[in-house]
Formats: sequence, structure tokens, C-alpha cells
Amino acid sequence: EINYQQLPLPYAYNALEPFIDAMTMEIHHTKHAAGYTKNLNDACVAENVDIKTKSITSLLASISKYSTKMRNNAGGHYNHELFWQTMKPAPASAPTGSFAKMIDASFGSFVDFQKAFSDAAKNRFGSGWAWLIEKDNGGFAICTTPNQDNPLMPEVGCGGTPILGMDVWEHAYYLHYQNRRPDYIEAFFNVINWTEVTRRFVLDK
Ligand code: MN
Repeated sequence: EINYQQLPLPYAYNALEPFIDAMTMEIHHTKHAAGYTKNLNDACVAENVDIKTKSITSLLASISKYSTKMRNNAGGHYNHELFWQTMKPAPASAPTGSFAKMIDASFGSFVDFQKAFSDAAKNRFGSGWAWLIEKDNGGFAICTTPNQDNPLMPEVGCGGTPILGMDVWEHAYYLHYQNRRPDYIEAFFNVINWTEVTRRFVLDK
């Protein structure tokens, strides 16, 4: 590969309706997210990052060595590539198996997890992300990051690997929901791809 690549969206722009509208998905994928990927590649050229040997995760883990442009766009690229893959057309199934047991052990129940994740997403002031992470020392946790920061950046204080991320920038919901971020958060649970989220948990073993 000669560039970090934006993958095609794994479903149609309108596939997540009525929960996320087609125009939001199209602008979000082809303008916002595409811009992060392009600007990341530009920053790698400017800052002599050899993308043939530097994985995006190792770049995030050492992000403090680079510019703010690198930080914002490396995070933006990684965050959105995860976001698209961990959604799917409704209905969402519930987590099962060892993943569901880990949710219960970490939060009490799936309902408790849903409330804690929703509260975190609502309370992230301004632009940012809410995350379900697998902690470095085991178990799940919820955290949030500002802007395009990511849990793999050591200094953000999450201490784990993201397996589900929710974009709470206004560009992710404003056309349909305007100021109603809580309604977007409630809708998001209808389009989570728990099979993919669980795969990321299992792969980390
Ligand atoms: Mn976004």
C-alpha cells in the first residue's frame, strides 16, 4: 500500500435509515472521513512517516511525537474506519456468549452498559467520541475523547483498545437531529453491529 486507505462503506448510504439518514452518511463518508484520510497521508509525507512499515495503531500509540495535524487526522482516519464497520442496518441483535458475560461482569447488565455509554456520549462536551474499550488489564470500560483523539493515544487516559466507538460530532447527526444529540444516541443502538464488535474483542485475545 502506498497510502492509508479509506475502505468502501460496507452498506448503502440509506441502509441505516430511519436512524441515520442517507445524506448525513454520504457527506460524512465522502467529505468528512475522506478528508481525514487524505490529510493523514499528506501529514505522513510531510513528517517522513513510512506508511509501508508504520501501522495506524503504532502511529496512534506514538502520536505525541508528531504534529497536531497528524494527531487529528490519524485519529480521524482510524475512528471513522472503526465506526463504519461497527454499524449495520437495523435491527441490532444483542451481544451473546463470552462477550455478553464480559458486559455483565463489567457493567452489571446490558441495560446498565447502555445507560452508562449513553450518558458518556451525552456528556462529552463539544466534538468527540464515546468508546467501549477492552482495558489493558482486562474487562471492559467506557471512556470518551475530545476531537478526533482515540483510546490508543496513551495520554488520553482510556487505557485500552477501542472495540465500539460512537461519533458525537454534530456532523454525524445535525441534518436529521439538529441539537437533539440524546435522540441520535438512542437511535444508534438500533444500528450497532454486535457481531463485528464481538469479533474485535475476540481478535484481541
Ligand atoms: Mn465524523
